Amino acid sequence: MIELEEVSKAYRTGGRVTVPALHEVNLSIADGEMVALMGESGSGTSTLMNILSCLDMPTAGHYRLDGTDVGRLSKRRLTKLRGRTVGFVFQSFDLIPDVTVLRNVELPMIYTRARVRRARARRALERVGLAGHEKDMPIELFEAQRQKVLIARALINDPSVLLDDEPTGDLDADSSLEIMELFTELNGAGRTVVFATHREETAAYASRIVELSDGRVVSDRKTGRRRPPPTLRAV
Ligand code: ADP
Ligand code: MG
Repeated sequence: MIELEEVSKAYRTGGRVTVPALHEVNLSIADGEMVALMGESGSGTSTLMNILSCLDMPTAGHYRLDGTDVGRLSKRRLTKLRGRTVGFVFQSFDLIPDVTVLRNVELPMIYTRARVRRARARRALERVGLAGHEKDMPIELFEAQRQKVLIARALINDPSVLLDDEPTGDLDADSSLEIMELFTELNGAGRTVVFATHREETAAYASRIVELSDGRVVSDRKTGRRRPPPTLRAV
């Protein structure tokens, strides 16, 4: 369960100058929802995703994750809560080109015993439909498959919430379709999925669309959709 209460964020850009990015956002996301955070470039979706993933803290307001106010946790306890609760796909933390797919997925578990690490990485690759690709090198994969490896890496600790900032940002229509079908599947298996997008057709896969404009929630609607839209399935 994700609960944001009057969450604001302003970036300090040196001296007293601040850039407001979120204004008093109130948002609850229940377990098992699939939510798209949609907005034009600069609307605050990445800022919100960073807060949801506990990579960044609000400058005002409260973020409760599974009932715990993350702003009140010590660094150590926050790391622990975050590790078991959220998996985050960073577009900036790309695959390492010269190590295998399996190794890439194992990366976040570097401090765990090799046997456990490997088993979990295999399991995560199975979840995204890439069993059998463990020994491939990233360059041997299609773009959609590379994205799935990033998603597997985010799933390695079997988090209850999967976060992805612009999952289809650089993808063509076919690859986007594959990724959004994977999200639908992961969500169907009970996982909460939250993604940010600028694209209407990507947002359409969510069961709920929360729209941001200038750091404010301007609309919040259910799509009534649990399965991919038929028009996009036919692509
Ligand atoms: P989106 O992801 O929807 O395009 P962002 O959350 O990245 O929007 O940005 C929201 C606002 O915050 C924009 O005005 C952006 O310029 C600003 N911003 C984002 N990150 C930073 C940062 N690290 N420092 C200063 N301003 C930032
Ligand atoms: Mg962004």
